[in-house]
Amino acid sequence: MSMIKDNYERVIDYMRISITDRCNLRCVYCMPSGGVKPLDPENILSYEEIIRIVRISAKLGVKKIRLTGGEPLIRKDLSYLISSINNISGIEDISLTTNGLLLKEYARSLAAAGLRRINVSLDSLHADRYKEITKGGNINDVWDGIYEAEKAGLIPVKINMVPIRGINDDEIEAFARLTINTPYHVRFIEFMPIGARDMWSREKYISTDEIKEKVSAIAPLTSVKARKSGPARYFRFEGAAGVIGFISPVTHHFCDTCNRLRLTADGKLRPCLFSETEIDLKPALRSGATDEEVERLLRLSIDVKPEGHNINHEKSFSHLRPMSKIGG
Ligand code: SAM
Ligand code: SF4
Repeated sequence: MSMIKDNYERVIDYMRISITDRCNLRCVYCMPSGGVKPLDPENILSYEEIIRIVRISAKLGVKKIRLTGGEPLIRKDLSYLISSINNISGIEDISLTTNGLLLKEYARSLAAAGLRRINVSLDSLHADRYKEITKGGNINDVWDGIYEAEKAGLIPVKINMVPIRGINDDEIEAFARLTINTPYHVRFIEFMPIGARDMWSREKYISTDEIKEKVSAIAPLTSVKARKSGPARYFRFEGAAGVIGFISPVTHHFCDTCNRLRLTADGKLRPCLFSETEIDLKPALRSGATDEEVERLLRLSIDVKPEGHNINHEKSFSHLRPMSKIGG
């Protein structure tokens, strides 16, 4: 089995692939209020192009793939992509990040195609507020999707919540309590200064320390050692069915264990979410490049992967592409 390390001794074995920049929601913290100009369809990588990139990456040592967007479930024939990736030698794990609206319809077929797990973004437990934050989403569809995903074996279901002051911070405790009787992994993600540039401010941003303080006021938290924890740190209330995770992209750097590359829907490799460095694979893919040439570009993106980011100290980070464009 091959293994590739970057210049900081980090093993790179994980790729997050955005398969579309489009979305059926307009979450206030993700999409700029003026909207984002969608990519021209011909600039979006085809499934065959994505499959080729995964095949070459797997030869280098990538083992885990996460599909994201935009909203990945709005792209047609997703099962085909998943089963094709699942058939690539070396790929051990395929997961998906979704807003959940279409999960009820697709959970079973995606699981049958080889999908292992899902992360569902849910930022309020109240129907009205959910509709407001997402600009139109129906929370019942999300819950129906989660239940269907559980039935299809896409477990543990991870629920991602981004607490934002004055918007949904009064629900932090309720989300944490969800884990007492249900096996969900509820993960709190710090609001990042990315995407909705008119929305982010120091005042609206809530640090993991503050979120954790609120959660641990409910009951003591015990640290849970997750085997493949990624950027989250996990805890549990005593006797609880589920676990609580904290993801702190802004305050606590998780850069020293970062094992990932990102591929945008238009074929750009981003070695780091917070850096503007991108390596465009599309011109090579579309001009008859050999596998060796594509591999060279993949190696290059690993070579330029920065040691860390400092968004917490930078003044101007709003130039970053929205998450829907990068692939969250
Ligand atoms: N549409 C899918 C979804 O919502 O799960 C996948 C793409 S979405 C861009 C991926 C993740 O990025 C979501 O969990 C969302 O909450 C998160 N996200 C988007 N903008 C963010 C921001 N400014 N700060 C923190 N998380 C953000
Ligand atoms: Fe769409 Fe996900 Fe962004 Fe919400 S967070 S607008 S669902 S891409």
